[in-house]
Amino acid sequence: MLIGQTAIVTGASSGIGAGVAKALGAAGANVVVNYAGHAEGANHVVRQIKDGDGSAFAVRADVGSEADVRGMFQVACETYGTVDILVSNAGVQQDAPFLDMTLEQWNRVLRINLTGAFLCAREAAREFIRRGIIRERSCAAGKIIFISSVHEIIPWAGHVNYAASKGGINLFMKSIAQELGLYKIRVNSIAPGAIKTPINRTAWETPEAEANLLKLIRYGRIGEPVDIAKAAVWLASDESDYVHGTSLIVDGGMTLYPGFSTGG
Ligand code: NAP
Repeated sequence: MLIGQTAIVTGASSGIGAGVAKALGAAGANVVVNYAGHAEGANHVVRQIKDGDGSAFAVRADVGSEADVRGMFQVACETYGTVDILVSNAGVQQDAPFLDMTLEQWNRVLRINLTGAFLCAREAAREFIRRGIIRERSCAAGKIIFISSVHEIIPWAGHVNYAASKGGINLFMKSIAQELGLYKIRVNSIAPGAIKTPINRTAWETPEAEANLLKLIRYGRIGEPVDIAKAAVWLASDESDYVHGTSLIVDGGMTLYPGFSTGG
């Protein structure tokens, strides 16, 4: 499905990014597995892709650093010739009640979740436009997929930096989709609900926490990285060629506000 294409997945050493990287590799893409701190996680993902006869390598880069992002794209292009797909997934939480939130906590989340998306998307778009369309590979010049969150829609007390970063991703995505469509670059987001990863371990690791979380999910199960990975492969492929500037919610019905199912 993605044979001959190259994908960069940021934050692919863990959780959703790791799942997306493996699924893109299984769909035939060469995969650049980005990480910030956990080389062993990234190397494990690379090994899994190679075990499935795919091609991948790991690159350390802080997505909030312009120099690191440029370096990552440069090494990707040196290795595979170009980049066709960006999955901008790297993200963090630094939770605190609003009144206690420090500027450092605010800045760290905005820098990684929003500025990181800007730096990676800009670099990707420049490379897509430089190279242009290669029809045997894809009818688009390139695909950008942001991993946003249902918190681009649902307000989240105690996590205002995170919700602001994801709300920002939504209009950033739509605005660059407006700007880049004419170059045949497709830009979309996936907005996951609750997915079992280290970022939200406390929300599902005990039976009590899991039961509480399930009250928010109409479909009755917590998501797995593979649920997001399948959507990412579709959005990266020509199967979704007319999907542009949209946010695909993959949340088991969290945004149906199940609390209102009995009348509110
Ligand atoms: P995770 O398992 O904690 O993974 C986060 C990833 O981001 C790790 O690979 C981490 O790399 C990377 N990262 C952190 N800072 C970075 C930086 N400065 N530069 C490059 N990479 C960096 O969390 P996750 O749940 O998979 O989250 C992935 C994305 O999904 C995030 O954007 C998150 O907001 C979003 N999301 C998650 C959920 C959920 O329920 N899990 C729901 C909605 C949205 P290292 O480990 O190498 O530092």
